[in-house]
Amino acid sequence: MDYQALIEEVYKEVQNENPRGKVADYIPELAHVDGNQFGIALVDLEGNVFGVGDYQTPFSIQSVSKVHTLTMVFHVFKSKLWSRVNVEPSGNPFNSIAQLEYEKGIPRNPFINAGALVITDALCSKFDRPFHQISDFINELSGHQCVLMNPEVKQSEQNHAERNTALAYFLKAYKNFENKVEDVLDVYFSQCAIEMSCTDLAKSFSFLANDGYSIFANREIVSESHARRINALMLTCGFYDESGEFAFRVGLPGKSGVGGGIAAVMPHKFSIAVWCPELNEKGNSVKSIKALELLTDKLKFSLF
Ligand code: GLU
Repeated sequence: MDYQALIEEVYKEVQNENPRGKVADYIPELAHVDGNQFGIALVDLEGNVFGVGDYQTPFSIQSVSKVHTLTMVFHVFKSKLWSRVNVEPSGNPFNSIAQLEYEKGIPRNPFINAGALVITDALCSKFDRPFHQISDFINELSGHQCVLMNPEVKQSEQNHAERNTALAYFLKAYKNFENKVEDVLDVYFSQCAIEMSCTDLAKSFSFLANDGYSIFANREIVSESHARRINALMLTCGFYDESGEFAFRVGLPGKSGVGGGIAAVMPHKFSIAVWCPELNEKGNSVKSIKALELLTDKLKFSLF
């Protein structure tokens, strides 16, 4: 399979069609990003990187980092983790608080904000330098020191933290939050403010395409059974309340972020990261989804 030709074809078709969205503006720092940037990087299981467009430009990975933190925490807590967070799609916006009350403080899944805050809280309970260790972990998965944290993006999140703070206190009211709210939010905003290129992001997801083994870290990151479960969660919950539509149109496990990035995997074949900052109303990148849809159409396979 000539992956380079494939992603170039996809890139060209998306650029010709030029579907537009709106750059995230819920925090001012993200609103400044140039919405025309667009890149694709695909990494096969031998570690070959294929790229097109702005695939080497670092961007704000935002919620894609929730997969990295989930991986760390799942590895430590194993199945005990699921007493604190469920594994069901939410069908609600990423920062929704409504369901938390009906579900008595147990978030629907680890990828909506409430669930991700529980994951970061669990991480803070087990790791003494949580953000440092998140960065080390992602660097290891990508095979080199690539993680940058953008302090302006973090500050911007902190200046507009009302909703995430409310979610954290709500979780605390249900005794599903162990650490100080400010400490956990500090780590959470740092992880959201991580910047990486499509290449490094795709490399950091490679272990999920490879039964838990990272060729860049040269070790098993999680067991094959954990890798399968993380992929199942990405497939069912990775795209906020558009997860069903992504499974329908693309059919790959993946995770998006409001920076416009999507990382996805085709198990036993490749990992891929696509980035374009303009989002649809659900918070997912318009061009990135279109590119992945074209890719699986042209490949004539997905998970299904
Ligand atoms: N930092 C964002 C927040 O918690 C993450 C948004 C996202 O990418 O889903 O609001």
